[in-house]
Amino acid sequence: MKKESIIALPDPRLRERSKKVHVVTPEILELVDNLTNVALDWEDTRPHEISAAISAVQIGHMDRVVIIRSDFDDKAVRDFTALINPQIVKFEGDIVYDYEGCLSVPDVYGKVPRHTKVRVKAVDIDGNEVRFKAEDFLARIIQHEIDHINGIVFIDHIRDNKDAFYKLDNKGELRPLDYEKYVKNNSILWD
Ligand SMILES: [Zn+2]
Repeated sequence: MKKESIIALPDPRLRERSKKVHVVTPEILELVDNLTNVALDWEDTRPHEISAAISAVQIGHMDRVVIIRSDFDDKAVRDFTALINPQIVKFEGDIVYDYEGCLSVPDVYGKVPRHTKVRVKAVDIDGNEVRFKAEDFLARIIQHEIDHINGIVFIDHIRDNKDAFYKLDNKGELRPLDYEKYVKNNSILWD
């Protein structure tokens, strides 16, 4: 499966809640494979970015499945961990603003408030429950992905924040985006 399978705003599915997975079927495993291929195909066309994670809704599947990259710093490590029905059991730490982008919100970045630590519960691809703690960038990514399966896009957290929106220029630098001109009444971003 290729990057063309990625859905983007204003697709209304991105603001719908995904369904709980009751059994890890071969179809769910195939979905995990497809997500991995899509994430890598997208990344291979983007010199300045990595595919840190993707959720099933982003390829139009409304199952609560996300994949998270195993190593965010090394593009050569191309494997991902799947989390099925992931949920945050506890938010901890401070709330910190940092940059986020999204495969389904092309070229728009935002400074989004997130907790620095979370405790997570999920099911793995073998159908076993897993529980773990995540911090910093991983915690941010997990909050972003769990938002996706709840029908929330990162820009929804910063909708009224005039100084929170950025775009990536040709050199891979983030530049402030003109809020009044490109964000406030943009019908692609808001329904
Ligand atoms: Zn996203």
